[in-house]
Amino acid sequence: MKGAADTKKVYLLAHPAGHSVSPAMHNAAFERLGIDAHYQALDVPADRLAATVESLRSAAVLGANVTVPHKLAVMPLLDSLSDAARSVGAVNTIVNRDGELHGDNTDAAGFTRALVDDAGVSLRGKKAVMLGAGGAARAVAYALLTAGVARLDVYNRTRERAEQLAGMFAHIGTIDPLLDDNLHDTVRGADLLVNTTTVGMGHVRNDLQEGDGASPLPLHSLPQRGFVCDIIYRPRKTKLLKDAEAQGLATQNGLAMLVYQGAESFRRWTGRDAPIEVMMEAADRGLG
Ligand code: NAP
Repeated sequence: MKGAADTKKVYLLAHPAGHSVSPAMHNAAFERLGIDAHYQALDVPADRLAATVESLRSAAVLGANVTVPHKLAVMPLLDSLSDAARSVGAVNTIVNRDGELHGDNTDAAGFTRALVDDAGVSLRGKKAVMLGAGGAARAVAYALLTAGVARLDVYNRTRERAEQLAGMFAHIGTIDPLLDDNLHDTVRGADLLVNTTTVGMGHVRNDLQEGDGASPLPLHSLPQRGFVCDIIYRPRKTKLLKDAEAQGLATQNGLAMLVYQGAESFRRWTGRDAPIEVMMEAADRGLG
């Protein structure tokens, strides 16, 4: 007879544990596939991180997700790292391999699958522009360059960070920081524009459904024909995406990336392909 004690565990290590839709998304997927496992968000302050990671070695634990602020700090606590985790410089997924903890990064694979599988965008040989040079930008840059874009231009408010990011990935493909003077023309001619800045995002203190109403680019600087992706998912439609749609451009928000990074983690923990539709519905419902 099986009981709750047999149920495998997956945790989200976060601080604060707050508003994540991941528990709803993964528990719906476990249920759909009849996998006896449960996903739970844990509030882990920095001084509890090492002990919490150590507890993941238990045979009852399949693994974990890691999010703000632990994606970097967790790396030295693990036994091995994937190429993606090493290149991106952050871990969002831990897999318990018989007591050995393997760190991976599924944000990059999730971003690519969202664009390719969900939006039908082809990346090989394309000219891409990325706005932002923060944590998420690293995963997006790695994803785009390993998917074979012809070039990636990076624009960031703080130029030094764009230069730093370009330096990190120059060994993988053609990536350059974009200067103010060239921003307009380069974006106009791009096949793909990706926003990874927080501009346009909703905050708990304002309306999560509306966002801050700001766009990282003026209307006249949008691509002429390219695809526009904003990895923000709260709100579902940022000002940037509304502007792009008004110009007749095809767009995608961050929900698909969120779901596909989860699906990639799910596959690593369970060895099973995740039920994408079920996870998409649960995440969508979780966003309200
Ligand atoms: P982060 O590391 O804090 O980076 C923030 C970026 O936004 C930096 O490039 C920063 O520029 C820029 N920025 C912030 N305020 C700005 C302003 N007023 N004007 C211009 N640029 C500004 O954040 P992150 O972790 O990369 O997250 C970025 C966004 O991605 C968030 O909205 C997050 O929700 C989203 N995200 C989505 C997914 C998904 O699965 N869909 C996954 C991860 C993240 P400076 O360098 O000049 O400060």
